[in-house]
Amino acid sequence: MPRRWLFADQLGPHFLDERKQPVLLVESKAVFRRHVFHRQKAHLILSALRHRAAELGDQAIFVRGETYGQALRQVGEPLEVCHPTSRRALEFVRGLDTVTVLPARGYVTSLADFADWADSRRGTLRMEAFYRFAREHHRVLMDGRGPAGGRWSFDTENRDPPPKGGRLDVPAPAMPAEDDIDAEVRADLDRWAREGIRFTGRDGPRRFPATTGEARSRLRHFLRHRLTAFGRYEDAMLSTDPWLAHSALSSSFNLGLLDPMAAVRGAERAYRRQEAPLAAVEGFVRQVLGWRDYIWHTYWYFERGWRDSNELGARRSLPDWWRDLDTESVDARCLRDVLTGVRDRGWVHHIPRLMVLGNYALQRGWRPSELVEWFHTRFVDGYDWVLTGNVVGMSQYADLGRMTTKPYVAGGAYINRMSDYCGGCRYDPRQRLGADACPFTAGYWAFLAGNRDRIPANARMARAMRQLTLLGDLDAVVDQERRRGSDPP
Ligand SMILES: Cc1cc2nc3c(=O)[nH]c(=O)nc-3n(C[C@H](O)[C@H](O)[C@H](O)COP(=O)(O)OP(=O)(O)OC[C@H]3O[C@@H](n4cnc5c(N)ncnc54)[C@H](O)[C@@H]3O)c2cc1C
Ligand code: SF4
Repeated sequence: MPRRWLFADQLGPHFLDERKQPVLLVESKAVFRRHVFHRQKAHLILSALRHRAAELGDQAIFVRGETYGQALRQVGEPLEVCHPTSRRALEFVRGLDTVTVLPARGYVTSLADFADWADSRRGTLRMEAFYRFAREHHRVLMDGRGPAGGRWSFDTENRDPPPKGGRLDVPAPAMPAEDDIDAEVRADLDRWAREGIRFTGRDGPRRFPATTGEARSRLRHFLRHRLTAFGRYEDAMLSTDPWLAHSALSSSFNLGLLDPMAAVRGAERAYRRQEAPLAAVEGFVRQVLGWRDYIWHTYWYFERGWRDSNELGARRSLPDWWRDLDTESVDARCLRDVLTGVRDRGWVHHIPRLMVLGNYALQRGWRPSELVEWFHTRFVDGYDWVLTGNVVGMSQYADLGRMTTKPYVAGGAYINRMSDYCGGCRYDPRQRLGADACPFTAGYWAFLAGNRDRIPANARMARAMRQLTLLGDLDAVVDQERRRGSDPP
């Protein structure tokens, strides 16, 4: 049986055909020289890789070297590898004579099935349509020929503002315990930092699973104690509770520790056994079977140049305070809290990513490609494939709407409704002009004014564009925001 080369995001048992299959694992230091990673992300990747090497023991050759090329030269035998997760890595393995590239694993729908589905459709490829296809194709949450409960989506029931009292009545995600391998990783990273490799963010206890055992245990805890509350408060943000009922499983899926179909089936079982309501279960299934796979597939299905789309002509570079996660310089309470979460955990949930970070970057006209790199390196679950769709397609509207019907841009009123941030902020979400003007509210109008000729006219934008024409102080707002520019708000 040929040796299976596992990349550092292919670490679970579902990347092997047999339990005793020979394995190659490579730890490349050059990757950490190429990018400035969040310290906790670097820790998680190394910890997961070294834990897998320790689990496999003699079954694996584990090469620690500078580059993949150097490591491979030490292994003089033919290899197989599952389809890697970035275009750059795919090109690299395809260029190697001794390596056979196998179909991708770690996603629910295969690349071939997605391509067949997408080829058969005319017009845009929306997530909702793909999700229906995937539900039917894999027979998930189906009753006969129709969706369980008679509806494909319960999304409209999943938009409640945060509960009163500052937290949800669910236990926080179960945290892993660090061990000797983590201690060794921490010491190595300290040494690498002294040698000149740059990291950002704060070090901290490892909060995300590094083994399949830890990931399964977090999944079980989520299904048992937290799934019932998933959905309803999915869009809410609380300064006192970063996790709410989110699963905190993205890094485990993306490292390949956890098979996403196991999570989908586990959630469906909870519904069938009447342990969790359908709206919560459907909401979770939509994220994993729907969104995650859709983002993966569009990365490969759309042309390569999609990643560099910049149809709104956003030309500003990310400012240093943003790159360095310098939250002390930020007064805007929502942005300060979310950036602090990135600095201290390398993770915040979906709405802070989309409606605080992404929204702010969009309003300020920052380059989408730099933002892809920023999310990739600052988040524990960040990878090129997942950020192309989420940043270029979703949050920055840089392709003018291949995935979404309108830009995800919003003023302070949205953040005020969906969070507890505005009460304690020095700005006022209702003000767009003057010393108290909320930078999100003012930034929203300035963005619309600056992009009204670029954003395609459509029914979902019509109301906002009409309101824009009625603002008597628009020129002053635009001028105020031009002066604010990319300074910390
Ligand atoms: C600007 C931006 C950047 C993002 N960056 C990443 C990233 O680097 N890595 C990443 O995995 N997700 C990313 N997402 C998607 C989503 O925000 C995270 O998957 C989610 O917040 C992770 O937390 P969780 O595991 O608690 O998710 P939950 O809310 O519990 O959702 C369950 C799972 O669904 C999947 N999922 C849900 N939405 C998406 C989505 N849009 N794309 C891909 N998977 C999804 C994830 O695997 C997640 O674990 C990003 C979204 C935006 C708008
Ligand atoms: S007032 Fe504006 S800047 Fe302050 S927390 Fe609310 S949305 Fe954020």
